[in-house]
Amino acid sequence: MPRQYLKKAPLSAASDASETHATVRTILEEIEAGGDAKALEYARRFDRYEGSVLMSEQEIEAACAQVPAKLRRDIDLAHDNVRRFAELQKSTLTEAEIELSPGYVTGQKVIPVATAGCYVPGGRYSHVASAIMTVTTARVAGCSHVTACSPPRPGQGIAPAIVYAAQLCGADRILAMGGVQGVAAMTFGLFGLPPAHILAGPGNQFVAEAKRILFGRVGIDMIAGPTDSLVLADTGADAEVVATDLVSQAEHGYNSPVWLVTDDRALAERVIARVPELIEDLPQPNRDNAAAAWRDYAEVVLCDTREEMAACSDEYAPEHLTVQAADPDWWLGRLRCYGSLFLGEETTVTYGDKASGPNHVLPTSGAARYTGGLSVHKFMKVVTWQRASREASRAVAEASARISRLEGMEGHARAADIRLAKYFPGRNFD
Ligand code: NAD
Repeated sequence: MPRQYLKKAPLSAASDASETHATVRTILEEIEAGGDAKALEYARRFDRYEGSVLMSEQEIEAACAQVPAKLRRDIDLAHDNVRRFAELQKSTLTEAEIELSPGYVTGQKVIPVATAGCYVPGGRYSHVASAIMTVTTARVAGCSHVTACSPPRPGQGIAPAIVYAAQLCGADRILAMGGVQGVAAMTFGLFGLPPAHILAGPGNQFVAEAKRILFGRVGIDMIAGPTDSLVLADTGADAEVVATDLVSQAEHGYNSPVWLVTDDRALAERVIARVPELIEDLPQPNRDNAAAAWRDYAEVVLCDTREEMAACSDEYAPEHLTVQAADPDWWLGRLRCYGSLFLGEETTVTYGDKASGPNHVLPTSGAARYTGGLSVHKFMKVVTWQRASREASRAVAEASARISRLEGMEGHARAADIRLAKYFPGRNFD
């Protein structure tokens, strides 16, 4: 039996892409031309904010003082886990060298990107965890300047818990500016900030598109736009837990797809019936976000076999992938395309999103086909070097000169020739 859609989505991440592109390009061009004043104008228009944008030490202290002690401890715990996971990742990236022929030594060095701009989303929800995920990781990588940037709440500035997390994790400056104007300010070096060499962090479709347009001029971690999540569930899965997990991720926003892939029709039907009830029970605006996401972007797919389920999941290439099925090791070995994998009912995306350690800034809209999530490695450059004795350079010089001439690159060939003539005078090389 071929794959069957028990629920098909009328919309996809690509649905409103061209309109978003035009909006974002205009804002970027205007801010590049108009500088600080234009960025402030957009902050007023989109976030109804007129206060100071670059937070002073006193403002940071005052915001931190508003964070209750218990929440501070939770943020501290999450920071500790994210930092230790990032340190593990850093330890896997090593400098190395190899003598490819006697006297010809080549190697790689690992150098942190100098300046990082970390976007911390804050439109619908205060994404405290995103501050931890981005700033901590840039700091562990060794970036020398890290800016954290997040939207101010109308008339009030950045949510205090985000400010607490950003300063705890080591941000050098905190910029109260959201969306495209925040991304532009970090990239163009507005408000006295050093221009970012790399932008990291998730955001809505406007933030993701701004990063995509600016890529090249500035590095980006990846396209981390509206969240998407897939649950793989077999007969043994608990329909109530599966439905709750799907709703927990649909809550992100009206355009956050959730998908269920299963080989059990009865389970799928129970989940389809239960999800709207769970959504109805959410507070606002979460209820409206989740209801729209479920109506417009959610899909439920029925497959015959677990192999077919895995193939289907790889085609979606979800940001978050949860397996609530027997034999987690089989799934771990088989699955190829996801941002972060949650194996078994005992773990859930919420843990990874908030506090467990592996980064929550993850590829969306199918980008998991070609990249993983944010890691220390995204803030580090692996560069190469080479050094040779005169004798060792001879074979490479001869080969390089011949390859250059074959390519028609006479200037390149002569850079090799001049060395051969200088180091081995009187010898004839063809
Ligand atoms: P946000 O901070 O990303 O965006 C808010 C900003 O959007 C505002 O400051 C405003 O300047 C701008 N904006 C709003 N409407 C606009 C318009 N019409 N034109 C131009 N700019 C406009 O916060 P958000 O909106 O709550 O979105 C957060 C996003 O981050 C969600 O989509 C969520 O799924 C995603 N997210 C992704 C990951 C990941 O790793 N992929 C992790 C966490 C959150």
